[in-house]
Amino acid sequence: MSTDLLPDDLEPLERAHWEALQEGRLEFQRCACCHHAWLPPRPECPSCLTSQWGWELAGGFGELISWVVYHHAPQPVLRARLPYAVALVELDEGPRMIASLQGVPGDALPWCGARVVLSVVDVEGLRLARFGLVAADSRQGASRVGAS
Ligand SMILES: [Zn+2]
Repeated sequence: MSTDLLPDDLEPLERAHWEALQEGRLEFQRCACCHHAWLPPRPECPSCLTSQWGWELAGGFGELISWVVYHHAPQPVLRARLPYAVALVELDEGPRMIASLQGVPGDALPWCGARVVLSVVDVEGLRLARFGLVAADSRQGASRVGAS
């Protein structure tokens, strides 16, 4: 586990989220009153403002809402990764999050609405959430349809 690499100044809810990710789990918050689900972590439901909520484990699948390919590095440490894609993903459970999008070939760009799958990857000792496009033959439930 790489929690030693987490910044010291993380808020407690951010720390809980990042510590779960270091253990390989993507967790989000769900409101106990209105059932709204959200990321990033915050102390109140952004929909109804209650502080009654709980953590839930993301199933690992979602939909590509939007994406961008960076051809210029905003920080020098990212130059070696150019070009790289960053996506806005809506998890199947509802929360939206921004993360790297893996495996985007330059000639076959993804489409909005594409299915994506989560992977938690180690980047220089810190585990980060990344998404990749789901192949058409491995979509959730596809094997069940094929077997009937
Ligand atoms: Zn709520």
